[in-house]
Amino acid sequence: MAEPLIRIEGVCKRFGDFAAVDTVDLAIEEGEFFALLGPSGCGKTTLLRMLAGLEVPTEGRILIDGKDMEGVPPNKRPVNMVFQSYAVFPHMTVEQNVGYGLRIDGVPEKERRTRVHDALGLVKLDGLEKRKPDQLSGGQRQRVALARALVKRPRVLLLDEPLSALDAKLREAMRSELAIIQDKVGVTFVMVTHDQDEALAMATRCGVMNKGVLQQVATPSDLYEYPANRFVADFIGSVNLFEGRLVQDESSQALIEAEGARVWVDHGVTGATGGTVWAALRPEKIELHHREEGVPAPAPAGAPEGANILAGTVKHYSYLGSETVYEIETTGGRVVKVLRSNVRRYEDRGFDYDQPVWLSWSPQSPAVLLS
Ligand code: ATP
Repeated sequence: MAEPLIRIEGVCKRFGDFAAVDTVDLAIEEGEFFALLGPSGCGKTTLLRMLAGLEVPTEGRILIDGKDMEGVPPNKRPVNMVFQSYAVFPHMTVEQNVGYGLRIDGVPEKERRTRVHDALGLVKLDGLEKRKPDQLSGGQRQRVALARALVKRPRVLLLDEPLSALDAKLREAMRSELAIIQDKVGVTFVMVTHDQDEALAMATRCGVMNKGVLQQVATPSDLYEYPANRFVADFIGSVNLFEGRLVQDESSQALIEAEGARVWVDHGVTGATGGTVWAALRPEKIELHHREEGVPAPAPAGAPEGANILAGTVKHYSYLGSETVYEIETTGGRVVKVLRSNVRRYEDRGFDYDQPVWLSWSPQSPAVLLS
């Protein structure tokens, strides 16, 4: 297999006794849009800054394009960085801003013009060449910063919370644009964000960090469907976690007895019988049914009798337009979140407060977590 473009090997960064980044191993392939994701203070920016050469690892090494970056200053690395604050020069026009780095590098004027023109076209700023930054919107200033970084044709573009200064609507629009630009130029992007929606929407792969430690590296859908542990399950989206004991474990099927619930899972379980495990169930994977006296409980297909079914009562719901989020109190006294699409709401009014319900789920739905 080809050598990855970026190889991070056993990298630690300590500030005094505090490990901001703790023994991270990570390989990023050429052409990826990679997101480093995690809560505030998890060490993701420190890791990005080490790639840029703005911080020096306390331990471990970083290779870019097969070359050890130890002692290589930021301006000699094949990387460029777009900062959160955009950092464009206020006294320069858009084209001067974008061409600045090329001028410093001594690129001849003719080539400079062509490259600036192409970069502005790429970020859709053609026609605004002569404007100054204070005559631009936040989103346009962001594009100037992006064009300025891309015009230098780096092997890797590092982006530190690139959309955080934009308002919500623009941020969402820029997500797809940034992903399209990345796809077009084919430059490897490494982006830091604390916003999981942003990471899932844009990145081809994500690394989730907590307390300096890389928890999981996977595609967005694998992070969501197969979280490696409780931290990832909880950080990515919303989840119901049932803590319990693995009482039966046969050829990757399992029965978990958890707080009054019997959870049958038909996939991905590896021997941990008798130990504590967690079944992670996403709210949209739970079905709600009316519960009436004398009417038998629904039997979820593929599960043994009495498993994957819980009785409860609607305690609260929030109507969110496209979907409704229900909070169901089970007869065992725990609250389970259920998300229900409103696609068919014209024929199905949903469920009301204090209404008795059944909760059921497929044996394929829960992820089983060992930590
Ligand atoms: P945020 O999203 O809030 O920027 P982050 O995940 O990017 O958070 P980092 O900026 O990498 O986190 O910081 C990780 C930890 O290291 C934090 O607890 C921070 O206070 C600490 N830290 C970062 N830089 C320094 C420094 N120069 N000196 C001491 N501690 C630092």
